Amino acid sequence: MGSVKDLYGKGRVVLSCEIYPPKKEDEFLNIHAKLDRLAEIGPDFVSITYGAGGSNAGKAIDIADYAKNKAGLEVVSHITSVGFSRADLTEGLRKFQEIGVENVLALRGDRPQTMSDEQFNSRDFQHASDMASFITENNMGFTVLGACYPHRHPEALNDEIDLENTVTKVNSGCQVLISQLFFENDYFLRLVDNLRKKGVTAPVSAGIMPITSAKQLGTTVTLSGTTVPEELASIISKHGDNPEEMRKYGIEYAIKQSRELIEKGADGIHLYIMNKPELAATIYDAIK
Ligand code: FAD
Repeated sequence: MGSVKDLYGKGRVVLSCEIYPPKKEDEFLNIHAKLDRLAEIGPDFVSITYGAGGSNAGKAIDIADYAKNKAGLEVVSHITSVGFSRADLTEGLRKFQEIGVENVLALRGDRPQTMSDEQFNSRDFQHASDMASFITENNMGFTVLGACYPHRHPEALNDEIDLENTVTKVNSGCQVLISQLFFENDYFLRLVDNLRKKGVTAPVSAGIMPITSAKQLGTTVTLSGTTVPEELASIISKHGDNPEEMRKYGIEYAIKQSRELIEKGADGIHLYIMNKPELAATIYDAIK
């Protein structure tokens, strides 16, 4: 247990997955059982999302506490700067420290629909890199991680600007990068190659989302700005109406993507499992 940075570079791919605090109360009660199940499955770490603007912040802390101290999982807690002052964030980080979290994923976060321009623009940390510098300079003992974007961040004017901003993020203290989800490996491999050419040696985990329903793909593409290759589009058109088949072929696609990435030297596979531990179990079994 400790810094997730130390898991990388040991000659094997680092396997991790994301958990989010459920909005509904009954699902929230269920999350402990899911974390226990994940502990049996044995990812190297789980990352726990944090609502931008503070939504679900308390739940994210409770889940991190259970995951770390009851289930015995290694935890990366996400923390977002949108909607928070420096003092709020310091307080949030202290809470993570109190429960023994040693790794944080520093994010700007997306603007919630209800947030005014004034509130969005008045955050103390403009970019994730500003928060990464703050956490690093304050010697709070955290390993800081950052996000990166194989298709570039939707607000970035071009690939080169986004790449430079990712380099700045690493130079500001992010020791590990986790990518946004993508369905075409070339985009991820090109990003890692470009980072290496810029001298970035930080490990980069590839974000993979198994698509198990046609509806999920629609939401995912809208939110992430990723592209859908022919092969995945044809899985949806052939099996989209049959939930069992869709699940099977969606998982197969994620396994195929992960295997190719591992063959091509990816440092880690980070699964977006939509709080479904069995997806992690099936995919890890197939790629280990
Ligand atoms: P930034 O790194 O600040 O980037 C935002 C934009 O600013 C980009 O266009 C970038 O190119 C530009 N930029 C960055 N640094 C600079 C700089 N120094 N100078 C000028 N421009 C700059 N959202 C949540 O609300 N909660 C979560 O828990 C969460 N978890 C996520 C986990 C992962 C792995 C990923 C990939 C995304 C996650 N998100 C989460 C979504 C994320 O918050 C959004 O993508 C958000 O729009 C950008 O966050 P960021 O930290 O990448 O921002």
